[in-house]
Amino acid sequence: MKERSFCPRCGARNQRLYQGLCRSCFVDEVKLLNIPKKLNINICTQCNSFQKSGKWIDSNLTLEDIINLYLEDNIEPYPSAEDIRIEYEILQKRNNLIDYLIKAKGKILEQEISQEYHILVEIKRDVCPECSKFASGYFEAVIQIRSDERILSAEELKKVDDVIKENVENISRTNRMSYISQIVELKEGFDYYIGSLKVARRIVNILHNSLGGQVKESPRLMGRDKSTGKGLYRIWISLRLPSFEIGDFLRFQDRKGQVTGFNNQKIFLKDLESSTPYSVNWKNYEKLKIIARNSDVMKATLSDKKPGYIQIIHPESYQPMEINIPGEDIPTKIGEELAIVDIDGKLYIID
Ligand SMILES: [Zn+2]
Ligand SMILES: [Zn+2]
Repeated sequence: MKERSFCPRCGARNQRLYQGLCRSCFVDEVKLLNIPKKLNINICTQCNSFQKSGKWIDSNLTLEDIINLYLEDNIEPYPSAEDIRIEYEILQKRNNLIDYLIKAKGKILEQEISQEYHILVEIKRDVCPECSKFASGYFEAVIQIRSDERILSAEELKKVDDVIKENVENISRTNRMSYISQIVELKEGFDYYIGSLKVARRIVNILHNSLGGQVKESPRLMGRDKSTGKGLYRIWISLRLPSFEIGDFLRFQDRKGQVTGFNNQKIFLKDLESSTPYSVNWKNYEKLKIIARNSDVMKATLSDKKPGYIQIIHPESYQPMEINIPGEDIPTKIGEELAIVDIDGKLYIID
């Protein structure tokens, strides 16, 4: 038989060979673990992320857990070994060097083997690229909060600020570039400098979805990358909040309505004549006309009602005025108040 032959280590003849050795020499020589002599671990002093296969990985792990992860990744058991059990023991610690004793047990060719190895782990304290970007004030995008032909209210600014900070923090749990490097107050609004463009876009979309308005991106050339020669751009994303707010009254193509809400596509309104809901795309923003403000809504006393129309006492002129109503009746009783708005001399009931 070809495979039964002579063992060069012990001289035994007529043996089945395992990688050129007899069974007992093979078991003596085989290494249960393939293990490097030294491991270098880079850990960020700022965020505790660590470098693995060239990549920085976020972590909330303790140093011990990070080392264990490295050891597990770098220790390779012999492929046909069974029942492998590994124990780590720290023999010595000097500054950033840790000398580990690795005790391994396992079975090869049905035979129980135990072996010991040494591995030197060196901890390098470093700053990951993301933390160094943060530290240097690096940003990829600026969110500009602006308003059209009006001053942003303190309430709006607070809401914007809350949304930005809350989302930056939430996203930062999975994206280390989610940070605000700077907030600048200008007379026309606020600028938020954001680490990541992707994060800035996501947040602008969230704001846009609740506050409406117009979004515009403009890249600015900040210089050149010395190594590639390519232009370095930063993106300014402006969110211009509309000149009107929820509750205000708009005219668009002869239709008059009260603003009930926004999303990032549309302005939602309620028709003043028919009370039916409708919407107008932000693309038509320039063609919208503000015909009254929410603050123009008045309380008037109902003085008479008949199917198809009602009579009220105008709160400013105290004159009785008639309003045609589309429905059969309104629930308000004579003598009670209802909300009205006067647009170009015509009164509308707001419900
Ligand atoms: Zn042998
Ligand atoms: Zn870091």
